[in-house]
Amino acid sequence: MIPSAFDYHAPTSLPDAIALLGRYGDEARVLAGGHSLLPMMKLRFAAPAHLIDLARIPDLRGIAEVGGEIHIGAMTTENELVWSRLLADKVPLLVEGARWIADPQVRYRGTVGGDLAHGDPGNDHPALMLALGASFVLRGPGGERTVRAADFFHGLYATELQPGEVLTRIQVPIPPPGTGWAYEKLKRKVGDFATAAAAVLLRMDGERVAQASIALTNVGATPLKAAAAEAALAGRALDESALGEAARLAMEICDPVADQRGDADYKRAMAGEMTRRALLKARSRAA
Ligand SMILES: Cc1cc2nc3c(=O)[nH]c(=O)nc-3n(C[C@H](O)[C@H](O)[C@H](O)COP(=O)(O)OP(=O)(O)OC[C@H]3O[C@@H](n4cnc5c(N)ncnc54)[C@H](O)[C@@H]3O)c2cc1C
Repeated sequence: MIPSAFDYHAPTSLPDAIALLGRYGDEARVLAGGHSLLPMMKLRFAAPAHLIDLARIPDLRGIAEVGGEIHIGAMTTENELVWSRLLADKVPLLVEGARWIADPQVRYRGTVGGDLAHGDPGNDHPALMLALGASFVLRGPGGERTVRAADFFHGLYATELQPGEVLTRIQVPIPPPGTGWAYEKLKRKVGDFATAAAAVLLRMDGERVAQASIALTNVGATPLKAAAAEAALAGRALDESALGEAARLAMEICDPVADQRGDADYKRAMAGEMTRRALLKARSRAA
């Protein structure tokens, strides 16, 4: 199918984009890379009368170190994350995560902001940002506000973004030196979304876990923070018993939907397995 007719707008500044969103209200949608929105328009699940393209707004692109954080413009593409030396040095978890997304063609257009704003629990950035404790800067007619990743995802395709607001920037705290990281994703083939995936950050104190951060992809209506599994690991050696308990506690919070990738029990089990593998890989990378 082809999408229903729409008017195309290409503002060159954020204030102009926000003014257009205000003028057209419910009839308008922001366009980023188009790799989630355009398929929905072609299927007529979405039929905006006005598309407001953010591609010509330079302020929305780029990756920079600011204080103890990495700031990423919402229109930064997946490939720009993959190629970033700054990210490889400071937040390698995001580079590993971006490599798992779709295929190279999609990664040339798809943006980190679009991946988050879409509110799809199958997308990979939501859990990655949750594990990293990131926050998102939203700008609308009333000004700017900052929302924690933990408060952003409300449900399937539902986020904290209010009508007229644009996600402008993602702020990621730089993990302390020596922090281990891993994103383990089970998918059926290149270009597929996760059957289940786990993002892990791990700090060790000798042989014992000082702090673990674990977030899960595509096993609930939102990305899930595995808080009980994190707490169970604190102060313990990462042996078989600790890994098994963390995997079990991660599985307990999953509420996956059966689809062509498998039934709910299988997906839950795979979330546990991805958690276990990500913890082990993060351990091998922790100083
Ligand atoms: C074949 C294929 C495989 C894929 N596999 C994966 C995968 O494995 N993992 C994964 O994470 N993703 C995957 N995707 C999705 C892809 O990463 C999309 O690019 C991403 O979900 C949306 O980003 P986008 O820039 O294309 O946004 P768009 O499609 O342009 O927008 C998506 C939604 O977000 C809104 N939006 C976009 N930017 C903003 C903003 N700055 N502020 C407010 N609202 C905004 C739009 O209005 C729209 O509602 C896949 C896509 C395809 C086509």
